[in-house]
Amino acid sequence: MANSEARRPLVAGNWKMHEVVADAEALTRGLLAGLPATPAAEVVLLPPFTALETVHRVIGSDPRLRLGAQNCHWETAGAFTGEISTAMLAPWCQYILVGHSERRQLFGETDEIVRRKLEAVLAAGMHPILALGETGDERKRGQTQTVLRRQARAGLIGLSADQVARCTLAYEPIWAIGTGAAATPADASEAAAVLRSVVDEAAAGVATTVRILYGGSVTAASAVSLLTADGVDGALVGGASLKAAEFCAIVAGAGA
Ligand code: PEP
Repeated sequence: MANSEARRPLVAGNWKMHEVVADAEALTRGLLAGLPATPAAEVVLLPPFTALETVHRVIGSDPRLRLGAQNCHWETAGAFTGEISTAMLAPWCQYILVGHSERRQLFGETDEIVRRKLEAVLAAGMHPILALGETGDERKRGQTQTVLRRQARAGLIGLSADQVARCTLAYEPIWAIGTGAAATPADASEAAAVLRSVVDEAAAGVATTVRILYGGSVTAASAVSLLTADGVDGALVGGASLKAAEFCAIVAGAGA
């Protein structure tokens, strides 16, 4: 086995702005029908906010699926039209994704904003999934490691060891998201090693337990090689998480 026994693989499905409530219900039922009785991986769904209550109800007490949100605001309440707080998400969610590249690129989220959100998730007792990754141009300029270190340090340095231990990191090279051009397992391993060194810098002793996911055009066909790459503990999946059979096959790959 490539990775530590202490780290159960995690596969998260980021549904983005897809699935009206009825479709979210059908997709969740399809996943429950397709997953094995005891998946090796922890499986987390990140539906749109409007579907959280329904997906939560459909999952019921089934331990195979957990729920998270795709975003949150850093304040607990207030005059922030259109935003949603961790307190509002807490009844449904154990995880909240922060720092997805679409939030960074399309909605102007800086490292500082991502940090505030990550702290809010921790303060609410939930688990942040911190997404980070370089653009294609940064990669061409040889800046991948610099970008990853900067983003990971901005997210983690200064947290307590207990807080760092509750984080999951997701390496998502922006050039691989939604393009069909996934990183190679070697690229994913190299990035995971860089990120794990920052985890170690942030909190000595917890790096062996923090999970580092790969995300970017993961499919059933690429899952096994990417998810068994050294240092990679699972996947953050976009497009392929909207197809029940494909997502279940990816989950199976995480336990291979
Ligand atoms: C994502 O947006 O987090 C993602 C990984 O998307 P995709 O799997 O579609 O590349």
